[in-house]
Amino acid sequence: QAKVQGRGGLRFFSPEMGLRAKQRLQLEAELRQALSNGELRVHYQPQVDLISGDIVGLEALVRWLHPERGQILPAEFIPLAEESGLVVALGDYVLRETCRQIKQWADNGLASRQVAVNVSAVQLSRGRLVESVREVLVETGISPQQLELEITESFLMVDRDQSFKVLEELKALGIRLSIDDFGTGYSSLGYLQRLEVDKLKVDISFVRDMTTNLGNASIVKAVIALGHSLGLEVVAEGVEESGQARYLRSLRCDVMQGFLISRPLPAEEMTRFLIAYEPAKIPVDNEATSTL
Ligand code: C2E
Ligand code: MG
Ligand code: MG
Ligand code: MG
Repeated sequence: QAKVQGRGGLRFFSPEMGLRAKQRLQLEAELRQALSNGELRVHYQPQVDLISGDIVGLEALVRWLHPERGQILPAEFIPLAEESGLVVALGDYVLRETCRQIKQWADNGLASRQVAVNVSAVQLSRGRLVESVREVLVETGISPQQLELEITESFLMVDRDQSFKVLEELKALGIRLSIDDFGTGYSSLGYLQRLEVDKLKVDISFVRDMTTNLGNASIVKAVIALGHSLGLEVVAEGVEESGQARYLRSLRCDVMQGFLISRPLPAEEMTRFLIAYEPAKIPVDNEATSTL
């Protein structure tokens, strides 16, 4: 039986996976515990407008604060959570926590920036995502426009019709939608017409060496052109260097996200970051004097 894997691939269980299967069962049991023990944390990473330098959004990224092993990154447990179905409860937790945080920031006058939550294809096909979103909007009183959901093209491979239905219902609620890791899936592009998408996120693997790798530069340019011709905003992920920011700006990319601005931070640290942030100080150029 095919199961969804993190980055859009498919994995099949086979007998030789016996040893790993045991460790996985262990981790799965621990993850189940983690959910009820409150060991999951949500960190936030800013997204910056490449022209104004303003923070226009944040992305919520889950971390597991394991009692013995310390912080575990999602690459280690999201695939497992997807295979076990735990990602539905995990996703619900991240959604609720994020909306609660959006409310808190709004209450403290920290503007009404939108925050993006990653959603697994499994949540679209088997969860009760629309109900959860509806509930949490009512509970927190935040506006649907403050919430964005990031999906990967892997949703096309799970239960396409059901997923489309869920996404259409979410759009009808006023939620914003972005395609994460764009260009790494196997999909045809037709879904971009069928679905009311707001944003494309250029995958980190294309951004990483686009200033030295002609092929990656071409892909980044093509994604920006495609996005803009469809009326979508384009966000570049994984921007670490000022040269990359400068290049993206020359390509008319709209928004950047990456360590250049900030690593993902816990809510309290992100609050301090938001308060102290000065758009003009964005290191978009190598010269310290340059401003956006
Ligand atoms: P993603 O949604 O594409 O998130 C971007 C990833 O790139 C994050 O990794 C982030 O920390 C990392 N990143 C950001 N800027 C830079 C940079 O400048 N350089 C480098 N090298 N990396 C950067 P993270 O937090 O480890 O998350 C990995 C993936 O796990 C995410 O990729 C997303 O697919 C998934 N994920 C994270 N949180 C959730 C969640 O709450 N639910 C679900 N379903 N998936 C999640
Ligand atoms: Mg994402
Ligand atoms: Mg991504
Ligand atoms: Mg991803």
